[in-house]
Amino acid sequence: MAERRAVVAELGEPPYRAAQLSRHYFGRFTQQADEMSDLPRASRDMLADALLPPLLTAERELSCDAGTTRKTLWRAFDGALIESVLMRYPDRVTMCVSSQAGCGMGCPFCATGQAGLTRNLSTAEIVAQVVAGARLLASGQVPGVASRGGPGGLEGSSHRADTARVSNVVFMGMGEPLANYASVVAAVRRLTDPVPEGLGISQRSVTVSTVGLVPAITRLRGEGLSVTLAVSLHAPDDELRDTLVPVNQRWKVEEVLAAAWDYAAATGRRVSIEYALIRDINDQAWRADLLGSLLAGRLAHVNLIPLNPTPGSKWTASRPAVQREFVRRVAAAGVPVTVRDTRGREIDGACGQLAASARQ
Ligand code: SAH
Ligand code: SF4
Repeated sequence: MAERRAVVAELGEPPYRAAQLSRHYFGRFTQQADEMSDLPRASRDMLADALLPPLLTAERELSCDAGTTRKTLWRAFDGALIESVLMRYPDRVTMCVSSQAGCGMGCPFCATGQAGLTRNLSTAEIVAQVVAGARLLASGQVPGVASRGGPGGLEGSSHRADTARVSNVVFMGMGEPLANYASVVAAVRRLTDPVPEGLGISQRSVTVSTVGLVPAITRLRGEGLSVTLAVSLHAPDDELRDTLVPVNQRWKVEEVLAAAWDYAAATGRRVSIEYALIRDINDQAWRADLLGSLLAGRLAHVNLIPLNPTPGSKWTASRPAVQREFVRRVAAAGVPVTVRDTRGREIDGACGQLAASARQ
């Protein structure tokens, strides 16, 4: 806010206009000068142009799940393409955001990884994805969802759309957030600072997902944030992880998990271990047992993701019986485990698939 005040003052306006503009953007999700009736007509256009330029243009919008899942392909000022997804549930609204255009980590099962890194996103480009979702919700265009069963079900479905807010943010769109460290941490602060400084989302409702950049995990631990860390493990052994997650050649499973446990101890937050189940690649019973033994007694939760096959890939999701057995074995080790829902499959929901199809 101090920086915003300084810029406003440089433009010859009273510094308190910074809070007024911030309230428009973070509280009302508008950057449109003509909607800022508390600002003098003569200053509105100049201030909005200078401080709130449009950063992302919607290139394509897709929806499914009766309109409760919305995916947007955005074009940045320089033509870079990124994706964000809004998912409305009965009790929460989650925005999945991109931190980079593309990704340089090269995981072979990931559409974003296959395309390589274009560039880092700025803090404002990350925040803009969440503000756009908040604006869409506030406009009443995202229908509510009936909660399954129970007397609240009907009420849920008649939920007034304008009452919903973005409650959760996950850095699980395109890019490796910890490879764009400064912009991502600044974005987390803007998302979680109270209005008018930021969007006022709870830190505990923000998840930063990483491929396992150990020094950056350690640095994040020192930020004093209580965001949830997700570690994309995908294999419990170095031999396989070296191929599924090439950065494992630099930081091994043991080091990544040690950094994760330090993070959990410092923040008191359970680490989410992401594991994409790939048929006959990483879904064997012995790997489930090894995973269970690595995580037993730790502040951890396993989130199994049925692989969303990328176009042209030879890999696919595990057979249902194999998936069930994997879950059973991890749970038998006393480790909490859930299977992620597969929202947005029919709209190229997985990381990077929509941008890849747009480039073709
Ligand atoms: N780069 C970060 C965050 C973005 S990817 C990371 O890798 O953690 C978000 C999650 O989607 C990761 O767990 C990633 O492994 C997973 N993912 C990528 N491609 C996938 C696919 N085709 N099917 C299922 N999960 C995938
Ligand atoms: Fe990058 Fe994550 Fe995809 Fe790996 S899974 S290539 S780290 S976006």
